Amino acid sequence: MKLRVLEQIEPIEGKAVRTACGYGCVRCGCNIVQYCELSHDTLAQNRFLACPECLKVLRGLVKDPPVLERVIKHPIAIQPEFNRKGLSYLGGMRLPDILLPGGIVLHSTPIPVVLNGYPILRVDMPEVSGGPFQLTLRLNGMDGQIFKIVDQNLWRGNDEWRFERIGDAYFIENAISADRINFGIHGGSEIEIYELQACGGERRLTINSSGIDVDGAPFIFQKTSDRMVGISA
Ligand SMILES: [Zn+2]
Repeated sequence: MKLRVLEQIEPIEGKAVRTACGYGCVRCGCNIVQYCELSHDTLAQNRFLACPECLKVLRGLVKDPPVLERVIKHPIAIQPEFNRKGLSYLGGMRLPDILLPGGIVLHSTPIPVVLNGYPILRVDMPEVSGGPFQLTLRLNGMDGQIFKIVDQNLWRGNDEWRFERIGDAYFIENAISADRINFGIHGGSEIEIYELQACGGERRLTINSSGIDVDGAPFIFQKTSDRMVGISA
């Protein structure tokens, strides 16, 4: 029995896998996931979604096929009693609000953070009503190049990246470039940015509890209408 991550998947097959898994990790329901495949001919549905953390746990279960198959056959996110707190399920076709330090709230802002032309953070509507909003995140990898680490909820990271979810708090970090984000998802309808360190070319953005800085200078929201475009520096 082998468990592998699928780098590519046919769009129709991808849609079928997402639907079968309830758009979340089979084990924990997290909506930042990878497509995985268990090569075993007794399983009708052998492709599934797993978050980076649970993938490690599932790899450890390869030596225990009955347990592994049970997890894959019963995706937690499609179970009616599943508690979706802290996950991205919106319950409707809309965008989550973005909360920034200083009480700034961005409504209906698909690209709330743009740095030097790079859309650092992007949110798209759910694929289906009741499904999770779709998060896209660009940060610098160890080679100093900006990289789409999360692509519409699909995790693209390798060993140089850290991903961790503790309840409704998410941590994504590149150990070498030091680019990172720490955010919370509240009730599916809000993303609160606690910390963000990102580079777009020569420019550097820092968001933390002290405020928002671009290249070391405070970023000022000029007037209310500017909030609709978020941080554009
Ligand atoms: Zn998981």
